[in-house]
Amino acid sequence: MNTYSRLPVTFVKGDGVWLWDDRGERYLDALAGVAVCGLGHCHPRLTKAICEQAGRLIHTSNLYGIQKQGRLADRLIELSGMDNAFFCNSGAEANEAAIKLARLHGHNKGISLPTIVVMERSFHGRTMATLTASGNRKVQAGFEPLLSGFVRVPYNSMEAITQVAANNKDVVAVLVEPFQGEGGVNIPEVYYLRKLRDLCDQNGWFLMLDEIQSGIGRSGKWFAFQHSHIMPDVITLAKGLAGGVPIGACLARGVAAEVFKPGNHASTFGGNPLACAAAIETLNVITDANLLDHVTELGNFIRERLKKQLIDVAGVVQIRGQGLIIGIELSVPCVELVQKALEKKLLINVTSDKVVRLLPAFVMQQNEAEQVVDITCSLIREFFNN
Ligand SMILES: *Cc1c(COP(=O)(O)O)cnc(C)c1O
Repeated sequence: MNTYSRLPVTFVKGDGVWLWDDRGERYLDALAGVAVCGLGHCHPRLTKAICEQAGRLIHTSNLYGIQKQGRLADRLIELSGMDNAFFCNSGAEANEAAIKLARLHGHNKGISLPTIVVMERSFHGRTMATLTASGNRKVQAGFEPLLSGFVRVPYNSMEAITQVAANNKDVVAVLVEPFQGEGGVNIPEVYYLRKLRDLCDQNGWFLMLDEIQSGIGRSGKWFAFQHSHIMPDVITLAKGLAGGVPIGACLARGVAAEVFKPGNHASTFGGNPLACAAAIETLNVITDANLLDHVTELGNFIRERLKKQLIDVAGVVQIRGQGLIIGIELSVPCVELVQKALEKKLLINVTSDKVVRLLPAFVMQQNEAEQVVDITCSLIREFFNN
């Protein structure tokens, strides 16, 4: 169906941070499949793990035990400090699981119309519940009636949400991104998550973090919440978790981990052996290659170099980010930069109309990052000279 306005290029092969199109032209990839291919394209260890699993067992269903699903759950629990996991196949589905979990918890407490607090400029997916939760009219328009049971407040501010706590007895949870990706690479003040945690504790709400873009190493820690020294009740994951094989996960802790009972939620494909083998190996490679430290260092390097090269460009509003999510906010809409970069054989993205976004693979080397920055900065300079 006509759901995408695609760029005029088709890739047929990848290796690390490089992609080749169907005419043999090579491109430098600073987007990694939109924060999915953290290990770069076709990492040999990931390819091998997928091939081996495909030769042993691909799918059996959740009617039976799944060895690799248990192992992946154990690994995620160990890395996150959460208690258990539900597996699905995408980010939207992971958030659906979290939303259902919060609603069921509300009903268990005798709240018949449970409400979830969500944020302005957020993005949680394209299913009916997750587009309702998203703070973006573009993803909602034309799909009314939206779901009830959500209240929206500004991101990175405690004022409105504190008012909600005082006035709304039906709230059961807050669903929030530790930093907003699609919403424009918005990094909240350092104590924001801690303040939300305190408010949730005072009111008996679940703190549910959408780590679909921020999690699995993208921020320089396994999970972005680990920069804040708090523990959430629920985390949702997808994107980078299996390096490009579709997977989603909803992790829960404490009371939240006990909400679902058999029959409450399910997924045919969720957590099948193939996807779990890919996820386990993705986590292993990140660990073995010390990629979290590299993400932090390379992210700092890229931001510093961008700042140096763009310091005198008046149209650059701010350069921001955490680890390897990097945003360059410009003063005017700049979507055309994506096409201009493609002509220079560089893949970048523009989100929220005015924010150039870089989401490179964790395996990117410094000399490759230099090329990304230098091309991006020359395009931004040209853009403002016109
Ligand atoms: C990409 C994204 C989603 C949606 O994930 P899908 O796999 O496309 O359903 C949800 N939340 C955040 C923060 C995302 O970045």
